[in-house]
Amino acid sequence: MQNLNLNSRQTKIANPQSKTKTPNPKTTLSRQNSLSQPQQKINQKSKPQKARISPIKTTAAFRAYKPRYEIAWANPTNFGERLAKDADGTLVNNLPLIVLHETAAPASSAINFFQTPHDDSNVQASYHTMIKLDGTVVYTVPPEKRAFGAANSVFDGSLGSETVQTNPDLPPSVNNFAYHVSLETPPSGVMNNEPTHTGYTEAQYQSLAWLIAQSNVPDQRITTHRDVDRSGQRIDPRSFDLNKFFNVLHSFRGVVSIN
Ligand SMILES: [Zn+2]
Repeated sequence: MQNLNLNSRQTKIANPQSKTKTPNPKTTLSRQNSLSQPQQKINQKSKPQKARISPIKTTAAFRAYKPRYEIAWANPTNFGERLAKDADGTLVNNLPLIVLHETAAPASSAINFFQTPHDDSNVQASYHTMIKLDGTVVYTVPPEKRAFGAANSVFDGSLGSETVQTNPDLPPSVNNFAYHVSLETPPSGVMNNEPTHTGYTEAQYQSLAWLIAQSNVPDQRITTHRDVDRSGQRIDPRSFDLNKFFNVLHSFRGVVSIN
């Protein structure tokens, strides 16, 4: 995580009263300030950095694209802190992972759910950000916090199987190092379990790519809920064109890969 950009405007993203015009692109996906400095030092000592990631290079097309955005913070019961240690007390230092979802419901319903206090840990849920059908970016959980986007889940990547169990009563999950982004499901896919629907709008692909282009999370660490799910029940985002998404992403930032 020390590779991610961080600057002083980060805190404004996390502040609902912020008067900033747009949340700062370069820090939206940063989780650097989720870990205190001492923990970072311990992490670096205990486990040498495994991957070098190149700096972000955004394009003129990126700078020209200006999506609408809304801030609708979730109730604090529906998200938590990113933890430096797992349930056994072992230090963890996974690199950030982006997990893509679809809402399965209208974005307004998802926002209502996230803003409703939930005491039951099996009900608590959230994403960091949603992309509405018209391309509006909705910020719901600050990036440095832990959104509850995927329950039982594992990321199998070039660094091996990654998952972190923070609650001994719940299955391990990628949530501790994930940034969850969810696409609003089109009407053809709302509240049904069909394996496909009509897909996402052009504006959604553009805004999703715009959001992710602000990070230097490598392509190989952009995944889907379907791929990390280990409950056998999650298939989202349905009808998502990964090639199309990466084409738009690469028009907004250079290819970022793990060296
Ligand atoms: Zn999902």
